[in-house]
Amino acid sequence: SSNTNFLLAIENLTVSFDGFKAIEDLNFYMDESELRVIIGPNGAGKTTLLDMICGKTRASEGSIKFRGKELTRMREHRIVWEGVGRKFQTPSIYDELSVFDNLEASYPRGRSVFGALAFKRDDEVLRRIHEVANEIQLQTRLDDLAGLLSHGQKQWLEIGMLLIQEPELLMLDEPVAGMSVSEREETAQLLRKIAKGRSVIVIEHDMEFVASLGGKVTVLHQGKILAEGDMQALKQDQRVIDVYLGH
Ligand code: ADP
Repeated sequence: SSNTNFLLAIENLTVSFDGFKAIEDLNFYMDESELRVIIGPNGAGKTTLLDMICGKTRASEGSIKFRGKELTRMREHRIVWEGVGRKFQTPSIYDELSVFDNLEASYPRGRSVFGALAFKRDDEVLRRIHEVANEIQLQTRLDDLAGLLSHGQKQWLEIGMLLIQEPELLMLDEPVAGMSVSEREETAQLLRKIAKGRSVIVIEHDMEFVASLGGKVTVLHQGKILAEGDMQALKQDQRVIDVYLGH
């Protein structure tokens, strides 16, 4: 089909919970190296959509194709191997381990079922840890316990723990929740940088942060896409104002 040119092509996606359609007949497409923000009121289906892409929630109907491969019946760890990384809101770092050890623990060893990639040379692992630490601006904190990092730095470390697995699509649920103003600005820079070469989906409520990210915004409402476009255009869109921006 024609949708194989997209990195991610979601078509006619529906999921029902006891007859309630949290996602209904949804079509969603993403290109490579795209930074996409998903906004929408509480209960719109944003988290459910990410859960479905990463295989945590199964579709009732429809298709999710990633690089042309169907994900809807793939197991969660296989979807990770395909290159889809998801950061959940609940922290998954080990406070009592160093930043370095947290990153090393996330390095994808034994990715192949047949063990072909099970043992990468240590210097390759080291090189990758330093590369990621640079990207998340924690290169001077590698020996510190993760528990000593600021709230924002812990969020970046978690992003780093996903980056070290080299995902092609990174999905983040409210990455700047609880961050200071300067941490928000730095996170916007980080995500824009990450989206050069990988694609990123961000669920976000903070409209200033959304505007600072730039790029295309998808507005979800009652399990469907209400509008898509840049933030400037959406601010003028009466449907978006009515359901989301107006209150
Ligand atoms: P958002 O992230 O946009 O706030 P959610 O995806 O969390 O919205 O939820 C969308 C709707 O689906 C909500 O009405 C929520 O109550 C419902 N929902 C989500 N997950 C489940 C579930 N596992 N069982 C039943 N209802 C669910």
